[in-house]
Amino acid sequence: MIPYGFHKIIKEDIKSINNVLKSNFLTQGPKVEEFEKKINNYTRSKYAVVCNSASSALIMACKALDINKKHIVWTTSNSYVASANCALHCGASIDFVDIEISTGNISLKKLEEKLINAKKNNKLPKLLITVHFAGLPTQQEKIYVLSKKYNFKIIEDCSHSLGAKRNNIKIGNCKYSDISVFSFHPVKIITSGEGGACTTNDPKYYNKLKMLVTNGITKNINFMNKKNVSKFYYEQKYLGYNFKLSDIHCALGISQLTRVDKIVKKRNYLASLYKTKLEKIPVDIQNIEKNNYSSYHIFVIRIKPEYFVLNHKEIFDYFYSKKIFINMHYLPIHLHPFYKKLGFKKNMFPNAEHHAKTAITLPLYYDLNEDQIDKVIGLFSKIIK
Ligand SMILES: *Cc1c(COP(=O)(O)O)cnc(C)c1O
Repeated sequence: MIPYGFHKIIKEDIKSINNVLKSNFLTQGPKVEEFEKKINNYTRSKYAVVCNSASSALIMACKALDINKKHIVWTTSNSYVASANCALHCGASIDFVDIEISTGNISLKKLEEKLINAKKNNKLPKLLITVHFAGLPTQQEKIYVLSKKYNFKIIEDCSHSLGAKRNNIKIGNCKYSDISVFSFHPVKIITSGEGGACTTNDPKYYNKLKMLVTNGITKNINFMNKKNVSKFYYEQKYLGYNFKLSDIHCALGISQLTRVDKIVKKRNYLASLYKTKLEKIPVDIQNIEKNNYSSYHIFVIRIKPEYFVLNHKEIFDYFYSKKIFINMHYLPIHLHPFYKKLGFKKNMFPNAEHHAKTAITLPLYYDLNEDQIDKVIGLFSKIIK
């Protein structure tokens, strides 16, 4: 059996979890700050706040930016639903910008057109959430220029792109965004079991995120209304959540983070094998500009249907029957029943929809080997016309 993704746990990971289990703190202990510091060092951002998932991190990030029912939030439809749900959790309304077919990322052209229109109609977004699809960075510095012109904030959903670089700068540094969000779910680049993080360079957002993760509570005297307080005293300043990440999870995350560059390098190597071996197969491959270094969270191809004897659905049936569990990223968010009820319809974002009809995510994970890649390619060669 070949899955599309798989985690990699080594002896050191288990040892570091065991150490926490034998220590005084299972949660709210020293591993939390240690993980946050290591994420800062790695991404070269000023602050980090860890939490129990990227879905939670996205909600907190929207809250930290004061997103509320007066606001419109934009993201792309070619993403996991969490990229859009966070706006709705804050009471804001959501809209999408179509993707660029060649990358699966937000189309700069469509974004500009949509902004010009929105300005005319007085419907400009307060926030744009960009997604580094499959680990490929978006054209963030250009989007940043637009954000200044049209006055919107930016969250980068970096759930796919830990370890990716653009113009030699690591993703998550927040040079061109207010907050970046990461996921440590087992299929992502590194894992903490479940887990997520926000990075930012703004102390205002950092302090608020730190409170939101623990029910809006602060124990820091500098942020309290009351002065000269008892040792036990704390204040709730915001309506927050229990989104805390335990020390057990942090220990795994810390241990995994030490290997992230090695992991991303291996993913790039496996992707390069796929690219060479796919040359004779009638498919399109995500275009990676020279100034980008992808983390290859997933390896996505798009079939040219007219060259295959099976259609998109039948290809999945065929691969599953051979125990190769290819996948598809993503079902367009706007076509889920929940979003259709909000008024979204087919043909609203044609590139995202075309992508979904032709895209296939091939198996890619740390321990995948060349024989297994050959098996995947072999199955494709059997179904070409
Ligand atoms: C995985 C993922 C998320 C959610 O991550 P969780 O940690 O599972 O909540 C959000 N956005 C994108 C783009 C993702 O791929």
